[in-house]
Amino acid sequence: MPHDVFAEARRQAEICNACRYCEGFCSVFPALQADRAFSDGDLTQLANLCHNCRGCYYACQYTAPHEFDVNLPRALAELRTESWERFAWPGGLARMFQRHAGAVTIAVAAGFALLLALVHLLGSTGAGDGFYAAMSHGLMVSIFLPAFFFPLTSLAISLRRYWRAVGGGRVRGRDIAAALGKVARMKDLAAGHGEGCNFEDEDRFSQARRLAHQAIMYGFLLCFAATGVATLMHYLWAMPAPYPFLSAPKLLGVSGGVLLGGGALWIAALKTRAERSLSDPRAWAAEMGFVLLLAFIAASGLALYGLGSTAAMPLLLALHLGAVLAFFVLAPFTKMAHGAYRFAALLRDATRTKA
Ligand code: SF4
Ligand code: SF4
Repeated sequence: MPHDVFAEARRQAEICNACRYCEGFCSVFPALQADRAFSDGDLTQLANLCHNCRGCYYACQYTAPHEFDVNLPRALAELRTESWERFAWPGGLARMFQRHAGAVTIAVAAGFALLLALVHLLGSTGAGDGFYAAMSHGLMVSIFLPAFFFPLTSLAISLRRYWRAVGGGRVRGRDIAAALGKVARMKDLAAGHGEGCNFEDEDRFSQARRLAHQAIMYGFLLCFAATGVATLMHYLWAMPAPYPFLSAPKLLGVSGGVLLGGGALWIAALKTRAERSLSDPRAWAAEMGFVLLLAFIAASGLALYGLGSTAAMPLLLALHLGAVLAFFVLAPFTKMAHGAYRFAALLRDATRTKA
């Protein structure tokens, strides 16, 4: 570790607490001003409330070359990275996948290779219709059911560790409603006065990052809904795939794929324009790799919708499912985990506001 991330975040939080210029910028400052001394848990909570909009940095009169050298977005980003690595289960994987784009690439390539091998060696029974001609339904379920529950279990353990570390207590229904409301609108990404944030451009307030995040989140939820509806149709109503275009799974999946892919590419473009020294530079490449993986999942899924009845289908299916498998395995140890931690931080904030 190049420096003590807690000591640096504590030093800057104390300066901000005395200054208070950025009071209305985001959820971090009201939480910060509620304390006079900052425990490691308090700082971890502040770090996970911050979404790196950079508004406070560009407004700050104490940035370098001032001797205070305040760079709160970076101090909190480095602490976030450290906290996700500390809480992750199994330990060690987050450190590898959060900081090394090469590890993300190898995991994705392994997913491709595994699925290609399965399609060629086991899947081509010709016994099913559509995708099931390349890979049987039973084989898909036996791979993806455990792959689906692994990240859920891992994240549940990580969030429990987070909740203990930040001193989280009892949660009421209205706390959950308040946190969900903020997630649904991504209100903090609009910054304090609603103009947007300065993530990719110091001089301009923009809603771009908020809209791109919303496209990814709602696209992901639509894709998830498509899979859920298809599962119900398969098991409850004996209606196995393939489905026509004007069916719930396809309409949900296509709209979700367009939103997910468009949002991921938009975020990738914004990241290339943003100043890297205002975030954790050690995590930049791996974060970008994960965003591009999301875009690839969406693009390969849409290609399957379009070319699913051609000779390219088995290859496209293996590439798409290999990417989805890599996504499931990587989700708790990469940028994807920030959604879960952010919700937990907003929940903690809501319980504290009430107290
Ligand atoms: S970021 Fe700078 S201007 Fe804002 S509260 Fe902290 S010290 Fe003050
Ligand atoms: S970077 Fe944005 S979200 Fe983070 S503390 Fe500063 S103003 Fe708040």
